[in-house]
Amino acid sequence: MVRVIMLSPPGAGKGTHSKWLTQQTGAAHISSGDLLRAEVARGSDLGRQVATYTERGDLVPDELIFRILAPAVVAAARDTGGYVLDGFPRTMPQALRAAQFGADLALTSNAVIYLTAPEAELVSRLLDRARRDGRADDTLGVIRHRIAVFASETAPLVEYYRGRGILLELSTDRPESEVQAELLDWLHARGLLHPVAGKSGPDRAEPAEARPPGTRDQPHGDQPVKPSLT
Ligand code: ADP
Repeated sequence: MVRVIMLSPPGAGKGTHSKWLTQQTGAAHISSGDLLRAEVARGSDLGRQVATYTERGDLVPDELIFRILAPAVVAAARDTGGYVLDGFPRTMPQALRAAQFGADLALTSNAVIYLTAPEAELVSRLLDRARRDGRADDTLGVIRHRIAVFASETAPLVEYYRGRGILLELSTDRPESEVQAELLDWLHARGLLHPVAGKSGPDRAEPAEARPPGTRDQPHGDQPVKPSLT
């Protein structure tokens, strides 16, 4: 089962490709941004703390991130045996802690997809999205700040994961179908997807729902997943 980290600057398509990969594989989609926005929308104390960072395009402190994300990752592992992590980890301390967490729970990531696009393209896509969805942090100043935060805090993860031999770098400055075909080929070549007989093209992966019950990969047999972060 795929256990994927999607790494990309804002606007490079990690949300779009994460959702698509989830449909292809049946692995749970866990978007840190969506979980944070849901917490803000709930109006909880935690949500109010989170909003002070997200509104400015700054990263939310690691403690808050782990408090919000850990239950979702544990539930995903239990339900699907895999995950598509969209927006996490985003700093080296998060990556190192996530690696420890993965090792403890036998849920180590087996692929990291690094999506790239020219900065002008990122800005233009996010401004388009702002017109459509009106996300609070999709204003020009905050977009530029988020891209700068990516360059300083998140970009170092690219070499870290490249060194682990699990990174695929993909330009998204081309048709989505091309990006997806290349991504599927790479996952197939690494034995992370199972081809469906007679199918070809970008949607040839076997959706998890199509498999007979009980044939999904499990994180570690019948053992329960420890509901703990440490
Ligand atoms: P984008 O990649 O377009 O910035 P996201 O929805 O992934 O959008 O994230 C929105 C905001 O949520 C970020 O700007 C940041 O404030 C916060 N955030 C998301 N994921 C993390 C994370 N792993 N660590 C810290 N902050 C995060």
